[in-house]
Amino acid sequence: MTTVKYTKNCDLCGVAVEIKGFTLTSEKGLLSFCCAGCQSIYQLIYMNRPSTDTHQPSINKEEN
Ligand SMILES: [Zn+2]
Repeated sequence: MTTVKYTKNCDLCGVAVEIKGFTLTSEKGLLSFCCAGCQSIYQLIYMNRPSTDTHQPSINKEEN
């Protein structure tokens, strides 16, 4: 057996995570990212939706 260090792959791009700290806690659990960029992108893509808010912004905006 080979000795494997605890490594995780970036949940966004799949690159091995070498630096701890870029993590997010989501419904799926703790997510790890290789860099702050991936972390913020993941937030934008997956965590930008209001979960409980039922108010939807109207697309047709009247000019005043
Ligand atoms: Zn990444």
